[in-house]
Amino acid sequence: MNGQPSRRCLRARRQVSGASAQLLARDSSVPKVTLVLDDNDLFYPILLSGAPPLCVRRRLPFPRAWDSLISPSGPPTRAGPPYFSWKAASMRLKDKVALVTGASSGIGAAVAARFAAEGAHVAVNYRPGSPKDRDAAEAAVASFGTRGIAVEADVSSREMVEAMVARVVAELGRIDVAVNNAGIEIKRGFLETTDEEWNRVLGVNLYGSFAVSQAAAREMVKQGGGGRLIYMSSVHEDIPFPGYTSYCASKGAIRMMMRNLCIELAPHGITVNNIAPGAIATPINQSVLDDPVAFKNAVTEIPLGRFGKPEEVASVAVFLASDEAAYVTGSTYYVDGGLTQQVTLY
Ligand code: NAD
Repeated sequence: MNGQPSRRCLRARRQVSGASAQLLARDSSVPKVTLVLDDNDLFYPILLSGAPPLCVRRRLPFPRAWDSLISPSGPPTRAGPPYFSWKAASMRLKDKVALVTGASSGIGAAVAARFAAEGAHVAVNYRPGSPKDRDAAEAAVASFGTRGIAVEADVSSREMVEAMVARVVAELGRIDVAVNNAGIEIKRGFLETTDEEWNRVLGVNLYGSFAVSQAAAREMVKQGGGGRLIYMSSVHEDIPFPGYTSYCASKGAIRMMMRNLCIELAPHGITVNNIAPGAIATPINQSVLDDPVAFKNAVTEIPLGRFGKPEEVASVAVFLASDEAAYVTGSTYYVDGGLTQQVTLY
């Protein structure tokens, strides 16, 4: 770090009153730690390469977020300085409980895996009736280093959604983050679209997002301490996509739902944001990926000149779910290689 302070974001949310702040770096391979207090008595650690370890002894409220930075002895006590683990500092979702819908493939699978790698306990939702999805969800959970469960539920069914959220709370103890990712699209001209097709797309994408996030938010309010709602919308929450009117309508509606909820749920400390992927290489785009002409046309529209990877969407989800995004609500994060900014020059 060449003597330049590097800040790791911490926010005082749930506080352990009366705890003393005592931090010592005992190992030269671990960055030295000092502490500063800002005007609001929030702690911020400043990592200074080569600086002597500093022990701070103040009887001040201790932010819960520090729990995730201190390992293995947990929050500091007056009994002695805990060990600061640099590795633990990258566990940005340590011990949070997250539900990711439609997580047996594509973006949802990448989000679930990345959340688990960041220390979260993850419920991996998959749709009923697909042994392939069930096997993928169960294999994912088995590969996690944290607690996880595979949960079958059709997000367009209120009954299944309620049962799924109840199971997450019963088995993982609480729910801190809900990633509303499950989605489908049907390509059909507006004049040909049937009621069944319209209702199916809106049922999964919009109603499913409503029902899952409502059930999760009710739990978050009940348990206290805030929470995170993340919707996987699309660049088509904003830009048109002829032949996909039901899909665009569902994603545009999610955008307005998210903006409303950011205000309604703010008093409960629940942040609400969208991620708007562009063209990501997942099963939903298999027909384009398999068609060289369609693929070339699609890539031509993307300033970065390639499809995105599910992991590149997952990185943004980690940020939004982490304490670092505590002041971020009501926004859409585009992960689209510049697609929405594309212009045709002639
Ligand atoms: P995907 O097809 O791999 O993922 C969609 C997931 O939703 C699948 O696992 C599927 O089983 C699940 N699902 C479908 N219906 C369900 C239901 N009723 N209940 C529960 N789960 C259900 O494709 P993806 O690209 O990973 O899509 C994930 C999300 O990202 C979707 O909401 C999609 O609209 C959005 N998105 C994707 C792209 C892209 O280019 N891939 C772009 C913009 C937005």
